[in-house]
Amino acid sequence: MAPRLGLTLDECRGVEYHELHAKDLVNKSNARPMPFGWTVNPYRGCEMACRYCFARYTHEFLGLNDPDAFERKIYVKETKRDRLIAEFRRARKSGQLVALGTATDPYQPAEAKFEVTRRVLEAAREVPGLLLSITTKSTLVARDAGLLREIGASSEVTVNLSITTVDPALARRLEPRAPRPDLRFVAMNALADAGVATRLFIMPILPGLTDHEENLKALLVAARDAGAVGAESNVLFLRPGTRETFLQFLAIDFPQLVPEYERLYRGLAYARPDYVRDVERRVRYLAAEVGLAARRREDRPDQRTPRQLSLVW
Ligand code: SF4
Repeated sequence: MAPRLGLTLDECRGVEYHELHAKDLVNKSNARPMPFGWTVNPYRGCEMACRYCFARYTHEFLGLNDPDAFERKIYVKETKRDRLIAEFRRARKSGQLVALGTATDPYQPAEAKFEVTRRVLEAAREVPGLLLSITTKSTLVARDAGLLREIGASSEVTVNLSITTVDPALARRLEPRAPRPDLRFVAMNALADAGVATRLFIMPILPGLTDHEENLKALLVAARDAGAVGAESNVLFLRPGTRETFLQFLAIDFPQLVPEYERLYRGLAYARPDYVRDVERRVRYLAAEVGLAARRREDRPDQRTPRQLSLVW
């Protein structure tokens, strides 16, 4: 990547790619109780342009406050193989989960061009005994099925496919440049066939749009049939930076829902607890009905307490 990058333009799609020198790619997560101890985000910005994307604020750190910049100016992190291996060894020693894609999607369209995620995984393959998870909305993850299988021979690896609706027309409006939901299930199936553990992430669940029983059940059934080992869900989080973009979209595309969002969110980032509890109950009930294990995001173990590693290296 590096010698080629500088400023690269994809004129068809109107996207600019810039190289970003990051001190570390595998970063310790210290902020608050989190279900992972380390994070890896190979790209800043994401062309898939989900209306509800919670990572939009990360572009503000770069001084880019225009919401379109998040989708059109993508920063590609530089990788150094030896450095990555050393960082993964440090993470392994901690016994904590390394999560790829906690902010932006590691298999967004830029990955087809620059393969930073691929190089990160090639480094992870050299460090047996890791606990690794990958979260994505992209079918491109199936490209790495063989590599993930190799990693899985000596480490624990799970791929979380984020799918919010089975309705392709609604998905196109909510996640304009992400692959169709049915294609994401095909990718899930391909990974399961390769022996890679997968999980359905119904994240975020959007009030009035994707929270109804028919959609939730269809997602869970499709995941079960595609070989997922379980499902996880979370209701929409409207942090500043996301709130403005999402509410603007809602006002234009679904104006009839604006009063309901005002009632549920009351100007806050989290929806009312009674609504959240109700949705969580619904997901748990439906998951049990279709025979899939379900949990909430906060049910994952707090990674401040390292797990005992069972693998020997
Ligand atoms: S795929 Fe993920 S990172 Fe990309 S825009 Fe959508 S929510 Fe944001």
